[in-house]
This record gives sequence, C-alpha cells and structure tokens, in this order.
Amino acid sequence: MWFGWYSAIMGLSSLLEFTEKGIYVPKGDFYIDPIKKVKQAVITHGHSDHARSGNIKYLCTDLTKPVLKLRLGSKINVQSLAFGESFFINGVKLSFHPAGHLPGSAQVRVEYKGHIAVISGDYKLEKDGLAEAFEPVFCHEFVTESTFALPIYQWQAQEKIIADIFTWWQQNQSEKKASIISAYPLGKSQRLISALYKYSPYITCHPSIENTNIALRNAGVDIPILDDLFSITKNESHRYLVLTPTIISQGLWLQNFPHYELADASGWMATKQGRKRSTAHRHFTLSDHADWPSLNQAVLASQAETVFVTHGFSDDFARHLKEQKINAQSIDHFFTRERIEQE
Ligand SMILES: [Zn+2]
Ligand SMILES: [Zn+2]
Repeated sequence: MWFGWYSAIMGLSSLLEFTEKGIYVPKGDFYIDPIKKVKQAVITHGHSDHARSGNIKYLCTDLTKPVLKLRLGSKINVQSLAFGESFFINGVKLSFHPAGHLPGSAQVRVEYKGHIAVISGDYKLEKDGLAEAFEPVFCHEFVTESTFALPIYQWQAQEKIIADIFTWWQQNQSEKKASIISAYPLGKSQRLISALYKYSPYITCHPSIENTNIALRNAGVDIPILDDLFSITKNESHRYLVLTPTIISQGLWLQNFPHYELADASGWMATKQGRKRSTAHRHFTLSDHADWPSLNQAVLASQAETVFVTHGFSDDFARHLKEQKINAQSIDHFFTRERIEQE
C-alpha cells in the first residue's frame, strides 16, 4: 500500500513512502532495511530484523559490511561507506551517521532538493565504550524506532549494571560455579565482553559469538581476544564468565562447565513480565536501545517537522508525541508482518 496521499494531507512533500516491502525512497529508488527482496537495499545494521538476504545490492557502513557477509553470505553484492561520507543514488544524496546501537550501526540521512529525512534504525544515546556515539542529525522527517517507548523503560547507567554483573560473577566463583550469561551475539555480547574484560580476563563465549567477534576485530573493533571455550578445564571452569546466544543449559559445548548459574542481560528484564518469561536465575536490565527519556530526547534533537514511529510501541509513542504537539504518526501497519525484534 502506497503512502502518497500523506503528502497531500500534510501539505509537504515527503521523501519517504511506506510500503509492504518497507521504507522506500522513491526519488532514489531504494529501500531502507527492506522486509522483502528489492533491487537496492540500504542497511542500518546487521540484526536479522534489519538485514535480510535476497536483495540484489546492499549499501551499509564499512563496519556493517563484514557482518553482512558473515550473516548473509560472502557472495552478496555489498558496497560500504564511512560515517559521514556522501553517496548519490539516482540524484538522492545519502550518508550514514552513528546510531550508537552497536559498532557500525547507522542512521540513514537522505537529502533531495534541500529536503532531509533521517531513518534511525535501532539506536541508543548512552555511550557504551564500544559503539560509535549516537549523532543527532537535523532533518525535516525523522523515522524513529520505539522498541522501549513506554515510560516504564528507563535504564540505569551501564557502569552500574556492569558492576552488578561482576559482583554476581564473583559470588558464583566463590561458590565454585561458572557464570553463564545469555546475550545477543551481535552487539550485546561485544559490549559485555569489552566492559567486563576491564574487571577480569576470565571470559569466554559460544562459537557463534566468537564468529562475530572475529569479523568485528578484523574490521578494527577493539574486542579482547578471549580464552577458547574448549580449552578450559573443569577445574578452572568456575572462574569463567561464559557468553551464550540463548539460555542453553545443556549441550556438548557446556560439558566442561559442570556447575553454573544462568543470567540474561536485556532491556526486557526491566519489567516483572519480562523477567517471568526468562528461565535464567538472575536478570540484568541492559539494552542496546534508547529508553523512554532518550527516545524523547532524540526526537527533539532531530528538530523534525514530521516524526514517523516504527519498530515497537509505535502507536503509544506517536500518541505521546502528538500530545507534545509534535506531528507524529505510527507507520507499522504499512508493513506486511511484524518484525522480529532483536535485542
Ligand atoms: Zn538492532
Ligand atoms: Zn531492530
């Protein structure tokens, strides 16, 4: 379904159309994070709800390129740009700007005849010591995510959460148990490794996480080299913090870790409901997405005349913005299916 009528109603010319294939820039004939296969895909970051296989051409940041090749196959046709570098597609000027969600994650800025739209992808404002700091970009139209766009989602500082994780890890160690923590393999895992390695080097991870570590290290991201999971003996296993993509309490890879505690680290752990859904013993609220105050701050910083809300609590956030006299609209109903959120 096309969104062309919107321009007429709002009395301004939008650079964007919202279609069943995703966010479309008709003047440039390209899509941002397309849901269905397209000719030219512009990708904000490597999470599977943003980067899908089957597109003919991909454009992304220099750091996202090796991640796409790892996840979608080494033969994909992918071109990459540095942050801030300008590129023209059919006369539309495009550039990537740091989104702070994970290393290489970008907001996409498109400009045509002086009109500017920015598509945020996933973002967070807090500096995590690894991802590039979020850059507010002035625009006329801002497409914002809304994963945690409810006032109940307000994060504590990363420092505090990392210190809590370290305390838990030390406690387990004194009880001769390994500390196993589930975290998304791209983004959250590297963030945890980078922050916790400063406390202790006894960190290891599941091979699927190490694959991503290698791709990012090779591209210049400063991720410590970890002890190999399979070289750790039973006697020393209790010293270790082990990162795993999902809560796995069995499997061959765990055979050298006979005693352990399980934890997870996610924004969803902020609520009782979220914690109830988890099978871990311990929950840490740590998200790679902006919390409620940050989402509001980012929208204001964009100075956009029109805000489109997607990817989460889009109706709630659009309603809230309208109450603040911001011209906002939820766009999630234009897309064919619910995206699978990757923390
Ligand atoms: Zn993401
Ligand atoms: Zn996402």
